[in-house]
Amino acid sequence: MSKVDRIQGVRGMNDVLPADEALWDRLESTVAATMRAYGYARIRTPIVEPTRLFVRGLGEVTDIVEKEMYSFVDSLNGDELSLRPENTAGVVRAALEHNLTYESPRRLWYAGPMFRHERPQKGRYRQFHQIGAEALGFAGPDVDAELIMLCRRLWDDLGLPQVRLEINSLGQADERAAHRQALISYLEGHRDLLDEDARRRLHSNPLRILDTKNPAMQEIAENAPRLAEFLGEASRAHFDGLTQRLRDLNQPYHVNHRLVRGLDYYNLTVFEWVADGLTLCGGGRYDPLVEMLGGRASPSCGFALGVERVLELLRQHDLVGEGASPDCYVVHQGDAAAHTAIQVAERLRDAGLDVVMHCGSGGFKSQFKRADASRAAFAIVLGDDEVAKGVAAVKSLRGGQDETGKGEQQSVALEDLADFVLGRLADEPADDANGGI
Ligand code: AMP
Repeated sequence: MSKVDRIQGVRGMNDVLPADEALWDRLESTVAATMRAYGYARIRTPIVEPTRLFVRGLGEVTDIVEKEMYSFVDSLNGDELSLRPENTAGVVRAALEHNLTYESPRRLWYAGPMFRHERPQKGRYRQFHQIGAEALGFAGPDVDAELIMLCRRLWDDLGLPQVRLEINSLGQADERAAHRQALISYLEGHRDLLDEDARRRLHSNPLRILDTKNPAMQEIAENAPRLAEFLGEASRAHFDGLTQRLRDLNQPYHVNHRLVRGLDYYNLTVFEWVADGLTLCGGGRYDPLVEMLGGRASPSCGFALGVERVLELLRQHDLVGEGASPDCYVVHQGDAAAHTAIQVAERLRDAGLDVVMHCGSGGFKSQFKRADASRAAFAIVLGDDEVAKGVAAVKSLRGGQDETGKGEQQSVALEDLADFVLGRLADEPADDANGGI
């Protein structure tokens, strides 16, 4: 037994293993194509930002800032830093810092890990991944509809059925203030029925009480004064503009009066995509944020989707697919063959082929086992005989078996090897296991 104990990963932070790579790859490439189709350009911002970016951007009385941020003091210079819990604030910071919206509005997207100190459970992790889009400098509601349709196209391209769209309007600050007063009065009238969390939030963030998952409070939340009743003409027109466009596009939606979202920076449009009771994606308009972060007022809208939740849904619906497999696996035996093999593998890669070369020792039999396990299309076989003749034996590993049960094998001059393999791959029917879903 080893004397040294093994170090475990951090709770709620997961390794993504090679077996999941095909799934991640499929989501990432579909997202990249969808973002391109709508004119969104990728931006990559740091994982660590100044803590006050999130305190100011997200609001002090939000769950994230109150209790979920991984914040620390940089021991080298005393800076107060945080692992990003979300990336809208970071994208806006970067856009301001680099004058990205100086001349015209900008459509940006990002992907990467986020960190929240939540209680880990299925679909909720401490390191998770989000993919998001931000349309900076657009007043909407056309761009609100565009962002929603971008998500719709993504679900369709991924083959995800039945993702439900919920929308609401949060109006403007003064409308929310009037609603807030009415809401506090109403909730105070039912104080004895509020749970501890709701009582704590009664004066700090009463809107969030409407978001409660507590079954005992559903009736109170359902009958509470609705923000919709406090919206002025402009807010209502914005919402009508969005719903009209969704109807024009045949996009079903459900108005959810209790959809408020957790962050302070939202106004007007908010939306969520929900499947199997889990929110896959949330977004909305955040017109005040750019000014809150020191920029010129600039109306903006965006969304973030939870990668792990989308992947889980793909798994549940058997939309996983298989990973890519190499074109060739090079097996070899003997000193001379080992030296030739590494050169042959490089030449095949020069020709654009994906090649795994057997490294280390092992007889032909165990090497062929690994070649099969790699799901390569061909084994390239080099023994002393082949090297002496300047050839390689090419053996098909997929189908192509003769009556003796052995795959057909052909001897090919080394200088013709790449062309021969490329020609055979072009003749073969596409490998179903290779990326096709
Ligand atoms: P939010 O930034 O809270 O609006 O979250 C946007 C999306 O990110 C959610 O709809 C989830 O799909 C995903 N998400 C948020 N928090 C977590 C978490 N702790 N673990 C996994 N996914 C999350």
